Amino acid sequence: MNEALIIVGAGHAGGRAALTLREEGYTGRLILIGDEPHLPYERPPLSKGVLQGTADLAGCSLCDSAQLAELDIEHIAGNPVTRLEPQQHRLQLADGQWLPYAGLLLATGGRARRLPQDQANVLYLRTHDEALALRSALNPGTRLVVVGGGFIGLEVAATARGLGCEVTVLEAGPRLAGRVLPPVISQALLDLHRSHGVDVRLNVALESIQADAVLLVDGQRLPCDLVVVGIGMQPNIELAALAGLEVGQGIRVDAYLRTSAPNIYAAGDVCEFERDGLYQRQETWRNAEAQGRHAALNLLGREVPFEALPGFWSDQYDWGVQTVGVITPLTVSRSLPDGGLLLFYLDAEQHLQGACGWAPGNSVAKDIKLCERLINARTPLNATNLADPELSLKHILRG
Ligand code: FAD
Ligand code: NAP
Repeated sequence: MNEALIIVGAGHAGGRAALTLREEGYTGRLILIGDEPHLPYERPPLSKGVLQGTADLAGCSLCDSAQLAELDIEHIAGNPVTRLEPQQHRLQLADGQWLPYAGLLLATGGRARRLPQDQANVLYLRTHDEALALRSALNPGTRLVVVGGGFIGLEVAATARGLGCEVTVLEAGPRLAGRVLPPVISQALLDLHRSHGVDVRLNVALESIQADAVLLVDGQRLPCDLVVVGIGMQPNIELAALAGLEVGQGIRVDAYLRTSAPNIYAAGDVCEFERDGLYQRQETWRNAEAQGRHAALNLLGREVPFEALPGFWSDQYDWGVQTVGVITPLTVSRSLPDGGLLLFYLDAEQHLQGACGWAPGNSVAKDIKLCERLINARTPLNATNLADPELSLKHILRG
């Protein structure tokens, strides 16, 4: 058997890497191995269109089976990799077969963090199959308690309200999506959810979940039919850790997305990389897309350091939040004519480092794209101009 390039994890980053390898002219054997039974797909629609019933798996997929066949990408589905032997350059699948590799990409993503006990009325959302299970449980009048006021919790809450459910959101921290959004946007999200009739409770501690209610530590009992838990993601690092690769909160890589083992790369949610002296993971569509592509290039020996800007978006009801770059303490804010808000993050030299926008629909996307160009331009900016809604970002970009 010819040695192949193998990708473990047929999700977004893994799927993108496989397609990129072919686009970039790799003609050797290429194997994409997944534990889910599906073609590689993107997850953002799961909490939005798929849950609403307006999108399906085909619409989320990165490619179809005909394209995989045409590109000669061998897709092994529903057969997880259970063992990796970096010294022998080989891995084993759950069905027992061993596959040798010349180069390997680990794009194993993560799974929903779970509460200690499993219960029939508690659902999670990470995979397409979990989205379908949740969708069939969300009916008009369903009393839903959402544990976690992060993106899963908030997007599920918004979709469930649209489906006519009664929704309560329980967030342990003092604000919504508090780790990733600035306070003013957390507040805007809180107001938006409350205006749509969601009972949002902050600083809440969960005591237990019963068959027909959620109990809080302060003694309150919240009767409900269903609980959705969105309390974060656990990266799938076990395979790499057992094989002796360096891991922290994710699989550690260098600037080229190379792990500590020869010819093994990592990408996507599971990949822990160093930026500004700190190891970090990015759990976003944009990162899966960029690192999947990037790892493919480096598997082909291009030796390009990974430097893409981070960023993400979230759609809730008819509003959207979008970010690019990094948050710094020096903030300038601009009110938008549609009631939205743009926040600019500058460094000490007045260079733009990041931006966060909040506006109806997808209208802030254009501004965020312009902010990305302003970040890349690396020219000092005038805070008064940035704050002025009359001055277009295009105009500022032109200098
Ligand atoms: P995944 O897409 O999780 O793919 C990893 C795959 O590897 C999975 O199929 C996993 O089962 C498989 N795998 C794991 N171990 C093995 C093994 N041993 N053998 C074989 N296969 C294995 N981001 C945004 O920026 N905006 C959004 O609006 C947004 N919405 C989201 C909504 C939901 C419901 C979810 C869950 C995520 C959302 N995200 C969003 C985040 C984004 O989807 C993820 O960051 C992205 O999917 C990460 O891609 P990945 O390839 O690293 O991991
Ligand atoms: P998350 O974004 O980490 O948010 C989890 C939230 O739950 C946090 O606010 C956390 O508060 C809170 N929490 C933790 N334990 C709790 C408890 N016991 N009771 C109440 N609240 C609790 O994770 P997530 O929302 O579950 O999302 C999972 C993954 O999907 C992430 O990778 C996320 O990026 C991805 N996703 C992204 C998007 C998007 O970008 N639009 C949409 C959906 C999903 P503390 O922070 O205070 O701990």
